[in-house]
Amino acid sequence: MKIKYIDEVEIHDKKILLRVDYNVTILPDSKIDSNERLKRTIPTIELLLKNGGKLILMSHLGRPQGKDPKFSLKPVAEELQKLLPSQKIIFVEDFNSDEGQVILKDQKESEIVLLENLRFYEEEKNNDFEFAKKLSGIADVYVNDAFSISHRNHTSIVGVPKLIPSYGGLLLKNEVQTISEIVKNPNKPYVVIMGGAKISTKIDLLEKLMGKADAILTGGGIANTILKQQGYVIGKSLYEEREKKETGELMQLSKENNTQVVLPVDVVVANDVSAQRGEVKKVDNVLEDDVVLDIGPETCEIYKEKILQANTIVWNGPMGYFENPEFKRGTDCVYDAIISNGQAASIVGGGQTLAAISKKDSLDKITHISTGGGAMLKFIEKSTLPGLEALAENSNS
Ligand code: ADP
Ligand code: MG
Repeated sequence: MKIKYIDEVEIHDKKILLRVDYNVTILPDSKIDSNERLKRTIPTIELLLKNGGKLILMSHLGRPQGKDPKFSLKPVAEELQKLLPSQKIIFVEDFNSDEGQVILKDQKESEIVLLENLRFYEEEKNNDFEFAKKLSGIADVYVNDAFSISHRNHTSIVGVPKLIPSYGGLLLKNEVQTISEIVKNPNKPYVVIMGGAKISTKIDLLEKLMGKADAILTGGGIANTILKQQGYVIGKSLYEEREKKETGELMQLSKENNTQVVLPVDVVVANDVSAQRGEVKKVDNVLEDDVVLDIGPETCEIYKEKILQANTIVWNGPMGYFENPEFKRGTDCVYDAIISNGQAASIVGGGQTLAAISKKDSLDKITHISTGGGAMLKFIEKSTLPGLEALAENSNS
C-alpha cells in the first residue's frame, strides 16, 4: 500500500477537498463537547494553506436521519474559527445549491469553507458514484485526514479519491505509521486489553490476534459473553447470545495458538446501571438477578501485573459501565497500569475508551492515542483500510 502524504509532494495553489473527522457531540447550548478532533487537523490545514491551497473541509457528524439541524456542523465552524483566527471560516449549507456553488467559485485564499454534515446527503453512506462526482467536481485534489472513519466504504472516503489526485494528511499519516510500527513486529510480551459493549464488533480482530498476542485481558460485554459461553451464570448482564458459537471457536483457537484469553475472576454486580453501590462477587457466585457492571479488584490485580510486564500494549473498550463512577474502577485500574509501565509501546483508541480517560493526567505516557476505535481495530487486524486503499490507488497522478 503506497500512499503519498501531503508533506512528500508539492501541492501548490490548488482547491483542496479535505476530509476530516469532526464527529463531535453537540451540547444542548449548541457548543461542542471537545475541540480535540479539530485541533488534531490543524497541522494539515496549516501545511496546505502555506502552499496557497484553498481548503474545502468536509466531515460527518453523528447518525442523522436526513437533514436534522441537531446534527449540523455549524457549531463546529464557529469553534474552528476560534482555532484559525487569521482565516475566515465560511459555512456552506449545501454545496450543491446555486448559492453554495457561487461561494465555492468565489472562494479567496484567506477563506476556508466547511461543508454541512455529509450525512445530510443519503448518498454519502452508499459510496454513490454520482455523489462522488459532485464532490470531486468542486476541487482539484483530495486529502484524507480522517483515519478514524477510513474503515467505512462511504463516498467521501472511498468514492472521491478515485476521481481526483489524492493524498494522505498528516494526522492520517501519523496514525498509519505509528500503529503499523508498533503492531507489525510487536515486542513481547504483547498484551491486548479488550472491553466495551460488544464482542461482535471485535471478534475478527481477536481471532487475528491468536498466535500473535500473548494475552488478551477481557472486560465489559466481551468478558460477559465469554463467561456465559464457558458456562458461568451472568444474570441480566450485557452479552451477545448470537456470538456463542464464534466465542467458542475463539476459545478453541486461544488454546491451539497459545494466546491466553484472560477472564475476570471477580466482578462488580448491581441491580442496574444506575445503582449507587455495587457488590464484589467471585465469578462463580453471580446470581440470575445480578447485572455484571465492572471487573473486580482481584481481577484488576491480575490484569495490572500482566500490563506491567508487557512490552506492547493495545487497549480498546472500557472494562465496565464507566459512565457510572461506581463501575469505573476497573477502567481506571487498567489505565493506571498502562501509564505505570515505563517500557512498553502502547496504543489506546475508541470513542468511549477515550471519553473514560479524557480527564486524566499522564495521557502523554501513552505512545499513541488513536482517533479511531473501529478504524484502529480494523487496521490492526488487516494492516489496511478501504479509505487507505482508495488513496493508494490514486496518489501518483
Ligand atoms: P469504544 O467506544 O471505546 O470502542 P465500545 O463502544 O466498545 O468502546 O463500548 C463502550 C460501552 O460499553 C460503554 O458505553 C460502556 O458503558 C459499555 N459497557 C462496558 N462494560 C459494560 C457492562 N459490563 N455492562 C454494560 N455496559 C458496559
Ligand atoms: Mg463506542
